[in-house]
Amino acid sequence: MIYLDNNATTRVADEVIDAMEPFYREFYGNPHSPHGLGRRSFDAMENARGQLAALLSAGEDEVYFTSCGTESNAVVIRGCLVGQSRRGIVASSVEHPSVLALLRNLEELGMIELSLIPVSRSGELDLDAADRLIDDETALVTLMLAQNETGVIHPVSEVARMAHTRGAKIHVDAVQAAGKIPLVVRDLDADFASISGHKFHAPKGIGALFIRRGTKLAPLWHGGGQEYGMRSGTEAVPSIVGLGKASELAAASLSLQERVRALRDRFESAILQAFRTASVNGAKERLPNTSNISFRGLRSGQIVAMLDARGICASGGSACQSAKPDPSAVMTAMGLPADEAMGAVRFSLSRLTTEGEIDEAIASTIAVITQLTSVPQTMEV
Ligand code: PLP
Repeated sequence: MIYLDNNATTRVADEVIDAMEPFYREFYGNPHSPHGLGRRSFDAMENARGQLAALLSAGEDEVYFTSCGTESNAVVIRGCLVGQSRRGIVASSVEHPSVLALLRNLEELGMIELSLIPVSRSGELDLDAADRLIDDETALVTLMLAQNETGVIHPVSEVARMAHTRGAKIHVDAVQAAGKIPLVVRDLDADFASISGHKFHAPKGIGALFIRRGTKLAPLWHGGGQEYGMRSGTEAVPSIVGLGKASELAAASLSLQERVRALRDRFESAILQAFRTASVNGAKERLPNTSNISFRGLRSGQIVAMLDARGICASGGSACQSAKPDPSAVMTAMGLPADEAMGAVRFSLSRLTTEGEIDEAIASTIAVITQLTSVPQTMEV
């Protein structure tokens, strides 16, 4: 099996599993219990907070654990409306569904005024439109640092400046960026940033939220006051320990991302050379691990299924969309014509991807596309 679907989720690193295991078997105390076993859990949790803070170049007091990226996004979007008279929220048109679906729901309920910043054909944010849309009624601008389907990196600090000039806050969905590119929350000028462990070799179901020191945010959940009052509920200590270890590993192996980029580029140029109908979706400024390729006239679902039969895991659009026959909303927002949008396949590598795997993936992808292009395709879009 060759796993090229790392933007959907990653393999949990062996070191992460090893770090977590004692917190299931031996050190199962509640981190807020007053005895030794509880203190053992608390100390491990605070150590993990430090490890994640180091990855983000943030203070330990600015990092809160959540259950996932979706929750972190929701806390910020809902929380920032509490005690606030402004109702405007500005987002890009290519945000993850955990942001866009929530914003559309809040808009339908009449709770917010939503403005979407368009992107170009190569997925780049329209900064002039951002400048027009962010105004004195804007409470929050929410912008992903790296797009999950194309890997395109957005100019967050420029947009943060626009937001702050108009008295708005900025939230950065950094779920896809963490562990793949340097992530210095202060350089981004972010007020809030969302993180998800399973995108960088920690387990699924653990996330985090950066809240800039001194920034107010209403919690979503009330109760025991855990996570310094930001998120009540007994903490998932083993997963938090895993997220901490994964953060440490990611920080130590950021330089490996250049090798990942070289492998990704090799894969991409081999495919582009083989097929004139293939084109890369996304600007040059992209995550080093992501390659989104449109095979004009073909269906991504069919390509992904045939790659799967050869042991290659890739995806059409995002994992959340892979069951749907429609073109990806992101490709549509980028203005791709239907025959390119329907044939977009995402290949996403990780630091664990090997040269041999890329060679095999190139051979299999060429074989699959050759087979499909020799069969006449019907396209009812
Ligand atoms: N934001 C982005 C950009 C993502 O790619 C994802 C997951 O695909 C999420 C948020 C949601 O993260 P989680 O799966 O941890 O809820």
